[in-house]
Amino acid sequence: MIKAISLYAIRLPLYQPFVVSYHTYHDMPSIIVKMESDDGYVGFGEAVADEHVTGETWESTYYLLKNTLAPLLIGQNPGEFELIHERMNKTVYGAPAAKAAMDIACHDLVAKKLGVPVYQLIGGRYHDRFPITHVLSIGEPAAMAEEAVQKVSEGYLSFKMKVGKQVGHDIERIRAVRSAVGNDIAIRVDVNQGWVNSSNALRALPYLEELQIDWLEQPVMADDLDGMAELKRKARLPLMVDEGLKGIKEMREVIQKQAADKINIKLMKCGGILPAVKLANQAEMAGMECQVGSMVESSIGSAAGFHVAFSKKIITSVELTGPLKFAKDVGNLHYDVPYIQLNEKSGLGIDIIEDALTELTVHRDVIQ
Ligand code: MG
Repeated sequence: MIKAISLYAIRLPLYQPFVVSYHTYHDMPSIIVKMESDDGYVGFGEAVADEHVTGETWESTYYLLKNTLAPLLIGQNPGEFELIHERMNKTVYGAPAAKAAMDIACHDLVAKKLGVPVYQLIGGRYHDRFPITHVLSIGEPAAMAEEAVQKVSEGYLSFKMKVGKQVGHDIERIRAVRSAVGNDIAIRVDVNQGWVNSSNALRALPYLEELQIDWLEQPVMADDLDGMAELKRKARLPLMVDEGLKGIKEMREVIQKQAADKINIKLMKCGGILPAVKLANQAEMAGMECQVGSMVESSIGSAAGFHVAFSKKIITSVELTGPLKFAKDVGNLHYDVPYIQLNEKSGLGIDIIEDALTELTVHRDVIQ
């Protein structure tokens, strides 16, 4: 039975600003959930809200957790994942990041109680390891190329390039990185909706095919699944939907409209581990490959994403590099750059660094 839930509003310091088409982040606001059961077990969860994607903010998520979801879950069995989601969904529509925090904490707590890794609860480990992709923030072409060369020398074999300012300039960015790293390095391009519509994106397609990119992610506005479908019919490279896919409802539309070859699952968009597993199953049945990404989360949210990714055959890539970007983290998720393997410790398999959690906390509440 869930006895107490502590909430920590924290700000995670970044080594350098993270720049995507719609925002520049100087640090990452996050909320850590510590869930305690009456039999002495503790689970941790995390919510990183992205107002551009789900309409949730750091502040709204904190207050929803404090005033609504935490009181709702006190006294519940943390192992009844399906029932807990039903209760949360009946009480609040949407708000997936807040629900993800509770879902992750429940999985961590129950897996620790059972003495197994979280992946053991959701199918067991399938993948031995995943390559880690380095994300290049939007910058000048020469600067992005220079950073890419540096990262290749550190062992990285793949990049995700953030673009989405203007098609011509973006092609210059991709061309600069491609000529700097050669053809053996994988390049994925994430536009984060920045080309707005299918007409702009269509102008880019021939260049992207020539530059041999692996796939093109979210070139058009999130809600424009028809635009994605049009591009998919005309493109000779795989298309990935990210912001356009939150949960099961959008997944159904993506499948019906044949709007993507690949989907980017994020626990913060769909509501946590249980809904992410459902999305992966739904995608597998529709023949679409999956990636697990993140909102740039600490070791807690990132580890939760990895447990989903490692347990599913249809999940073929990951982008969960938050902990590599933070100057200080609340957990110790371990990367063997350019790969990651998961350990066999119980729960999420990470230790919480209590001193760092205290230091990064700007507001705290306990609900019991
Ligand atoms: Mg994306």
